[in-house]
Amino acid sequence: MDPKELTSRFIGTIAGFAIGDALGMPTQFLTRDQIRRYYGKAITGFRKAHPGHASDFLPEGSYTDDTQMMLATAECLVEFRRMDPARQAEALLSWYLNTMPHRTPMRANIRACRHLSAGRSWTKSGVFSGGCGAAVRMPPVGLFFYRCPEALVRAALDDCMITHTDPRARASSVAVAYLVARLVQANERSSPGEQVLEAADKVSSVDQDVAAMLRWVTQICHLAPEEALFEIGTSSDAIEAIPAAVYCFLKHPRQFSQAVLPAVNAGDASDSIAALAGSFVGAYAGLGAIPQQWVQEVENRDVLEGVAENLAALACTKNASEPVVNVTSNRQPGWKTQ
Ligand SMILES: [Mg+2]
Repeated sequence: MDPKELTSRFIGTIAGFAIGDALGMPTQFLTRDQIRRYYGKAITGFRKAHPGHASDFLPEGSYTDDTQMMLATAECLVEFRRMDPARQAEALLSWYLNTMPHRTPMRANIRACRHLSAGRSWTKSGVFSGGCGAAVRMPPVGLFFYRCPEALVRAALDDCMITHTDPRARASSVAVAYLVARLVQANERSSPGEQVLEAADKVSSVDQDVAAMLRWVTQICHLAPEEALFEIGTSSDAIEAIPAAVYCFLKHPRQFSQAVLPAVNAGDASDSIAALAGSFVGAYAGLGAIPQQWVQEVENRDVLEGVAENLAALACTKNASEPVVNVTSNRQPGWKTQ
């Protein structure tokens, strides 16, 4: 693939994630009725969260914990040029200790980070949770290892184990990384539905239920978003959040706002679901598919683009672990935004 197109897809994956997260930030935890009550109508752009919302201290266009942890993962991969779970655990612990107040963090991640801060090793810090808090930080793993499926699976499982040990969280983590890896390589002959089915096959030995849910969503794309998302579920359980994001992507694989806004307006775990849906569209269709205004206005746009460019330069090749070009970065880490 043309390197420019590939870089556009890497940036699309990372920026699409942060933009989906920021669009969902004010609707997280809400019902559809509450969204109408607080915002008057469906959300169609960046908004500040309503007074009393857990994210009401954030300016519009701000992302939540999902993007902070995704960026921590990306920056760790760029710095160490491999998935080193001990370093990744340090990066997550640093996020936990240094970003106050936390932005609506997921409980399993907080519990695991407390275990790390008490001195447990990364192999013993994870908790038995089927939440989506590990899977959402996997897009950079998919990008970094996009040409090395075996290393990708190992890296996703190691990273997941730091916080989540439930097979549903593990399978979902592999599914997200694998799907991103397939989507950034897609060409005009590729079918997004087939790539989701491939991801399902990849994870069926880890958890049959996650594989079954992923296969099922490829069958219900004819349903309208409100009905489909109701049937799939929109909680932060990985078994709902990841299939919900995959459905939104499959419904409109090249149209960012049409894919992401239904997740935003479903409330519940809207930040995570919209983030992943946005990441999948960005991986498949590139940065150009994302409305320019959102790319300009999302928090830390430069950091998002910079880390995506570095990942593109470093992404695993079949024969060498050497980077394609030298990467220099003396930026502040993107998750340290406060
Ligand atoms: Mg969040």
